[in-house]
Amino acid sequence: MEDCIFCKITKGEIPSRKVYEDDNFYAFEDIAPVTPVHVLVVPKKHVRSIAALTEADTEVAGKMLTAIQKTAEKIGLAEDGYRVVFNTGEKAGQTVHHLHAHILGGKEMAWPGV
Ligand code: C5P
Repeated sequence: MEDCIFCKITKGEIPSRKVYEDDNFYAFEDIAPVTPVHVLVVPKKHVRSIAALTEADTEVAGKMLTAIQKTAEKIGLAEDGYRVVFNTGEKAGQTVHHLHAHILGGKEMAWPGV
């Protein structure tokens, strides 16, 4: 996807503060953090959102949870806990149309908080 900002970030064409990378995923600090720790985990394969996943994405979708777990460990959130958010579609506030998980942490968070 030529115009996708997250495709460009995962390829290193746009700078970012990387915190984790493996063959299938790239994680970096959000440029506008909403919590003291706010990291995005992005598959290198372009998929628009959870709603756009197909049978062909089953493997990458499953591996994404492991990439989130590893990223959270790397940024020191494993012990205290963290929240994972997948905004999916316009009404949920998705602004970048490349699947991504927000890892939020570093503070006490209320639930429900919507
Ligand atoms: O879930 P949503 O699509 O709203 O989240 C997109 C996120 O990507 C935002 O939190 C925004 O701050 C972040 N972003 C970023 N670097 C960019 C563009 C967007 O970290 N260059």
